[in-house]
Amino acid sequence: MSLLTTLRGQRSGDSSASDKSLASATALAPANSPSVSRILRARRSLHIDCSSDHRCLRAGSRFEAGEVVLVLEGLLSDTPSRYSVQVGADLHVQPAPGIPEDSVRAAWRFLNHSCQPNAAFRGPVLTALTAIDPGDEITFDYNTTEAVMAEPFTCRCGHCGGRVIGGYSNLASADRKRLAGTVASYLVERQTRSS
Ligand SMILES: [Zn+2]
Repeated sequence: MSLLTTLRGQRSGDSSASDKSLASATALAPANSPSVSRILRARRSLHIDCSSDHRCLRAGSRFEAGEVVLVLEGLLSDTPSRYSVQVGADLHVQPAPGIPEDSVRAAWRFLNHSCQPNAAFRGPVLTALTAIDPGDEITFDYNTTEAVMAEPFTCRCGHCGGRVIGGYSNLASADRKRLAGTVASYLVERQTRSS
């Protein structure tokens, strides 16, 4: 079995089935993948904030640098969408229709982009890059997972002056170098092949 099989198995809305899927995911994933207890602890530490137009995901309790923030759950697709997160060369995790939008299991859908993020993905696992305090918004750099954004947008992270976020393939080489520590390997390989 593969990551693909595991993620496809996570269609059920009930938490016990989800926990079994997590156990399965942990058994199948690489050696450095998080334990089920770490994943479940992280779930309890997330807060979906829809109190303003700036809908986002916030920490409900403190995450230390290196700690698991969440693990993507959803359906795999070979095409990106507005809400998908890319996890492989032609592999995108989409929100699963069976999971309510306000469920913490779908919390990753509320992750906004930042050019100075406090978290980063390694495959389907989002890990804190720095300590994240309760109430802080949790962000990652979309250019580290997406080859080409399905819907490019002008950034309002407050750190970049409002540049267009279009995916790793659309970055200047200097910007690609800046992301060397956090960018997904499939993006680097794709870029190497095309240059
Ligand atoms: Zn920005």
